Amino acid sequence: MTLHKFFQPENVSIQKVHYAGLIFDVLRLDKIHTTASGNKFFKLKHNMLEAKNQEKEVLLTFGGAFSNHIISTAFAAKACGFSSIGIIRGEEIENPVLSLAKEQGMQLEFVSREQYRDKYNPGFIQELRARHGDFYLIPEGGTNHLAVKGTEEINDLIPSVYDLICISVGTGGTIAGLINSKKEHQRILGFSALKGSWIEKEVDEWINGENNWQINQENHFGGYAKWKPELIDFINDFYQKTGIPLDPVYNGKMMYGLLNLWKKGEISSDHNVLAIHTGGLQGIIGFNHRFGNLINT
Ligand SMILES: *Cc1c(COP(=O)(O)O)cnc(C)c1O
Repeated sequence: MTLHKFFQPENVSIQKVHYAGLIFDVLRLDKIHTTASGNKFFKLKHNMLEAKNQEKEVLLTFGGAFSNHIISTAFAAKACGFSSIGIIRGEEIENPVLSLAKEQGMQLEFVSREQYRDKYNPGFIQELRARHGDFYLIPEGGTNHLAVKGTEEINDLIPSVYDLICISVGTGGTIAGLINSKKEHQRILGFSALKGSWIEKEVDEWINGENNWQINQENHFGGYAKWKPELIDFINDFYQKTGIPLDPVYNGKMMYGLLNLWKKGEISSDHNVLAIHTGGLQGIIGFNHRFGNLINT
């Protein structure tokens, strides 16, 4: 498949939702492809065009054993005719996420947590080149300038009637693109999936001084991939009532946070709210594999 064809954002829809008294819309980026879905698709686009430009044949990237970025890279690489290598944090294991990546032809290499922390060290990159030959490097989580250029294009799918746009935040690359491309009257509200107040500074690095955005840091449930039964109950209830599946790492927390603010009266029904579903639904498979089948599918 050609890159340009693969990176047409097809099947995206806007779904109206009534839940717990709030009426709002959901932008279903999770419908783009099946596995390389959601925001990662936008983050990969210009990196893969650049890799083609540089006539690279191999993409190499980094991630944890349950990383959405790993799986999206594996899927997009295969579809666009690249080989791919995933450098995975921690000792060798098998799980459904890594199996999916392998099915897409990704070659996995496991490195110790210590080595992983040092992954951008030029000496280590050189070692990787000695082992694997030449490659185009995409950072962990996929966030770099070309990724933000891609996430700015999400705005093409957002009608200007919305004045409050909600998005899940990990490394901040996706919200940065939304902030850069938003219209004057639009406010971007991020919900951090991680614990750590450095995230706003991180986002500042990727934007050009725009304001009218915030990152809510009160709905991370203890940190990245941490959860409580309350979150899982919410995800199951939301799915049952709206038909929209939410992953427990990102979108479950964003949606929970949005409804929390609504309950507290911090969002009023005068707002025209759009929540962006960033995909990552394989996170449900990974979660159910680790903790028992708690999330209904
Ligand atoms: C990676 C990811 C995010 C976070 O994106 P960042 O650009 O890292 O902030 C949100 N949702 C899903 C489903 C993801 O996979």
